[in-house]
Amino acid sequence: MPRAAAPTGGKRGLSAVLSVFCLAVLSSCPGGAYAQQCSETVEIEVPYVGGPPDVVAECLAKYPKDYCPTPFPTFPVSKEMSPTCDIALVGAGTGGLYMALRLIEEKKVTGAGLCVFEATERVGGRIYSLRGMGPDKDLSVDIGGYRTWPRFTPVTHELITKKLGIPMGCYENELEGGCLKYNIVDKDGSKDGFASMPEALMKKLSDAGARWFPLFELESMKQEAAKGATELTFKNGAKATAKAHVILNIPQRPLLKIVRASSLPEGGVSESTYRALHTVQTEIVTKLYMYYPDAWWYNLNLTQGDMNFEGDATKMLLQGRYHDGHVKCKGEGSDKKCHGFLMTVYAHDYAGEKAMYFRRFQSQRGEATTIISDTDPEGALFLKHAHSRIVDYHVYNMPDDVKAKVGKSQFEITQAIGSQPPPFAVLGTWGTATLGAGGGWHGWTDLTYKGDAMKPLNSYNIHVVNEAYSNVQGWAEGALQLADTVLKEKFGVSSPWPFDVPEVRQIVRQTNVEVKCADDVEVDTNPPGTEVAEDDAHLCFVAGTPVHMADGSVKNIEDVVVGDIVKTGGAGAGKVTAALKHAVDGGKAELAVLRLGDDAAAGEIVGSRTHPGSPACLRRPPPASAPRVTTPSRGRRCTARRAPRWRPGRSTSSSTWKWTATRQASPSTRTSSALRASTWRPAWATTRSSTAASPARTSGRRRRPSRLRRTTTP
Ligand SMILES: Cc1cc2nc3c(=O)[nH]c(=O)nc-3n(C[C@H](O)[C@H](O)[C@H](O)COP(=O)(O)OP(=O)(O)OC[C@H]3O[C@@H](n4cnc5c(N)ncnc54)[C@H](O)[C@@H]3O)c2cc1C
Repeated sequence: MPRAAAPTGGKRGLSAVLSVFCLAVLSSCPGGAYAQQCSETVEIEVPYVGGPPDVVAECLAKYPKDYCPTPFPTFPVSKEMSPTCDIALVGAGTGGLYMALRLIEEKKVTGAGLCVFEATERVGGRIYSLRGMGPDKDLSVDIGGYRTWPRFTPVTHELITKKLGIPMGCYENELEGGCLKYNIVDKDGSKDGFASMPEALMKKLSDAGARWFPLFELESMKQEAAKGATELTFKNGAKATAKAHVILNIPQRPLLKIVRASSLPEGGVSESTYRALHTVQTEIVTKLYMYYPDAWWYNLNLTQGDMNFEGDATKMLLQGRYHDGHVKCKGEGSDKKCHGFLMTVYAHDYAGEKAMYFRRFQSQRGEATTIISDTDPEGALFLKHAHSRIVDYHVYNMPDDVKAKVGKSQFEITQAIGSQPPPFAVLGTWGTATLGAGGGWHGWTDLTYKGDAMKPLNSYNIHVVNEAYSNVQGWAEGALQLADTVLKEKFGVSSPWPFDVPEVRQIVRQTNVEVKCADDVEVDTNPPGTEVAEDDAHLCFVAGTPVHMADGSVKNIEDVVVGDIVKTGGAGAGKVTAALKHAVDGGKAELAVLRLGDDAAAGEIVGSRTHPGSPACLRRPPPASAPRVTTPSRGRRCTARRAPRWRPGRSTSSSTWKWTATRQASPSTRTSSALRASTWRPAWATTRSSTAASPARTSGRRRRPSRLRRTTTP
């Protein structure tokens, strides 16, 4: 039977509203209950087919309300089932919403001419905030994107703080020099959820009259003539017409699904377009936040830094950060009591091995959020095990320097943590089956067709704008920068930022081998007495990685010698002051290190034979506005280390490990901008924590824990 119409998309109850004019798409119209109501004026609801579960309603139905988030913000929903739009935005992620707003601001489309279609009920996509959690309903959890890093994501930071006027607070104040990364906060400075950014964008669109269609999952597109109107068909049976442009703010896997089902003129989607679309790979990302009524880690002086405790299919991995979860404290001095979330896992890899313990606990494969509650037996099982791992690590397995920082006996630590498992936890699973995402983020596997991949369907006035095919993968920045590029090239809209956005090129490849700065080989790459930027850390490069010389030639990294002048970004160049090669890991791997002169403001390049690396991704000087912080000079240790699942006897040949070693086109075939761009060092590669690492972080940038903690502000 038809159900009552929901007033907004947020209160959806797995259904979508239909304005019925005897919809041809509704095969149920001719008969049965629907037939009686099939008139021009009656509204009915049909079950939403294949949509995500309602996280909030499901949680409230099963668990105590403390464990559940408050509903997602809603916006007025359009009830049309056959809308005609000038521009159709499909996907309400950050990049798409931003692009739509710019088009309205620059009068390229009216508010009413813009339709926003979204597969889920909420805006934000992979920026996904759960709010109103905990006994006081005042804690937030971000299971997706959650920080800016102004030095490397300047557009995102500027968008949030200036254009949207949303306050930000320090996420990671690692260095005495100041804050590196920022979270969105409320007026009291408490974490408020990164989704405030896409929500604010959507609010502006909605206020401008844009039409909002939640729970509209695009299945296919059809165009009769190139650049003619595009017909969009959705999973709920609705059809829409986009008269001028379609913006697909959609990541790789869902995008491919649509493209395969679409019909486009003039030969349709060609083999070369598919080849281009296949040149990125998704990473599987898991986050786990455990809620403790007593934030015991605060009592152990653990408010900054990481925890790492290897896991497998039977033992839960710990790979978290003390400073990450949302904690609130009441009282002062000895009466001070804190409660909140401890981030115990932030893990990612291409194969999904790190997710193996967690994925079977995921309640719905299409939904990224799983609330784990001690009130059901499966949840209790999970929480007991997770807590036992926490105890095991903190009592018996903490590194010495962390133990020293805690300064307590094993007995005291056991007492502080307590025997009681947390009552609930929030698991975020970004896997291949996650609706609308198909993974956590993306990495290039081949750069040869990058240009086509970033603009695969522009000739049809269908524009893909997403982090997946961008220069800054793993960050919302990628989607925003790509939006600015398409706005400029296709709509003549200039970027609104009061600074030159640095040209970034982030290059990642699939690998099963980790290279880690750890304990085997001492490589002192810093000339005595020099100061090194804290984030100036190792990147790992395979031998054979092309390095671009200042004169335009290209050398393999292992052939670069002291005195060579290499490109370092933009017009910059740096002199190689040290070129080191080391046999590591029992001679099975070779590590190459280049150290560049300070004038280049560039780091070093590190490579090993077994590790795919990035072509000449040297760091380029930060934007002038970003503070450059330094730490005392130090040596570094690097070694090649196999991934945990590697078994002796298996070949490490590149074919076995599916290393798609991309050769850059020769300089003569590459554009000068590509050459310039290739010298930017990826942002995630310089982050300090291995747990937050994006693809490249497994590719080698590591610090010794002791050093890491010494430079971390408690
Ligand atoms: C765990 C995690 C941590 C991260 N941390 C950070 C961070 O700290 N800082 C940072 O900047 N970035 C971070 N990121 C990356 C960041 O979240 C993403 O890069 C960014 O949100 C991508 O935005 P986008 O515009 O590409 O759109 P997406 O977020 O990909 O949004 C796409 C939208 O399209 C919808 N959609 C998909 N298919 C369809 C369809 N067929 N029909 C209709 N709608 C569809 C989806 O539901 C979704 O709403 C993180 C990501 C993860 C997973």
